[in-house]
Amino acid sequence: MPLPTENVGSLPRPATLQAAIAAYDRGEIAFADLAAEQDRACRDSIERMEATGAPIVSDGEQRASSFATYPITDTLAGTGLADNLVGDGQYFAIFDDGHHRQLPRLTGGPFRYKTFASDYLEKSLPMANKPMKQAVIAPSMLSLLYPLDGEIDGYSREQFLADLCDEAEKDIRQAFAAGATRVSIDFTEGRLAAKNDPRNPWTGRAMLQHFIELNNRVIDRFSADERVNLGIHTCPGGDMDSVHSADVDYAELLPSMFKMNAGYFLIQLASEQDKERVYRLIGEHSRDDADGVPQVAFVGVIDPLSPTVETPSQVADALVTAAKYIPKERLGATDDCGFSPFSIDDKPKHGSPDFARDVAFQKITSRVRGVEQASEQLQL
Ligand SMILES: [Zn+2]
Repeated sequence: MPLPTENVGSLPRPATLQAAIAAYDRGEIAFADLAAEQDRACRDSIERMEATGAPIVSDGEQRASSFATYPITDTLAGTGLADNLVGDGQYFAIFDDGHHRQLPRLTGGPFRYKTFASDYLEKSLPMANKPMKQAVIAPSMLSLLYPLDGEIDGYSREQFLADLCDEAEKDIRQAFAAGATRVSIDFTEGRLAAKNDPRNPWTGRAMLQHFIELNNRVIDRFSADERVNLGIHTCPGGDMDSVHSADVDYAELLPSMFKMNAGYFLIQLASEQDKERVYRLIGEHSRDDADGVPQVAFVGVIDPLSPTVETPSQVADALVTAAKYIPKERLGATDDCGFSPFSIDDKPKHGSPDFARDVAFQKITSRVRGVEQASEQLQL
């Protein structure tokens, strides 16, 4: 069997789709008009990802406001915000280029998702000829909707976390039930939790262990057979071609991250300075028995923030090197991150989102070909 390979989830939204989102936010077009544009972008994403030869595809998250906010708002500007939320929550992240992304703030209970990932997947599956994966957001990220200090009157933090875990479990179960072959949980806040950025108070609260425990409260509701296809994605962020936590040493994150009882991990690595050190850390800390499932490490071999397209032999070389440290039966390949986790993304290093989209499919093609080469070299 060749090495497994899959993408994280998102693709840059075409400029026409981003213009339609802005027009919808201004009240100039109806939701049906926006939905038609989203459908077009999803169909194009699936067709072009299938053409790369990838064994499993996604719809590029073209309907989602972002990887983190799809359950709670229709657009990133806040049109269609879910009940009991207002726009002025805490920063999720401040990126290295100075821009930031902000979360809504919970004002009361109960907390409920208004959109589940399966709502999108059900529309996209009929467009696909190959198996599809679905990314979902981690409960740890959405736990930041609750104010950092104090309690909301009439809705305790513990009740919120109980509701959040129920909604996150439903999100995953419904994605599998709709037909997702694999479901990966986006956990970009894991590495950021170890950053201690004084401009962003939650990062200084040593919340990583709490995040791991919260996510396991959901992951442990799934059987070992289900968890084989339930993954975790870690990265230092990827928005506007910038990152938020690449300066955090992976040694701060990986020993804790592999305590989550997921069956596979999509790990940013192509843009790391010292890749062999990280391969070694993965080999040391990933488990061959995480409560009944072996943990497969999909190492990042493609950098979505750079317009330079990796060659298949660069991809193969990285994987052959990784196999020195990670058992090859527990090794896979991925991209470092989604290509555009937020719906509004200029992709400045690329020049435009449309160009970045073309580049993304070239990069995925290189990953797929590189995986074939590495699989031959590793005699898989
Ligand atoms: Zn990511």
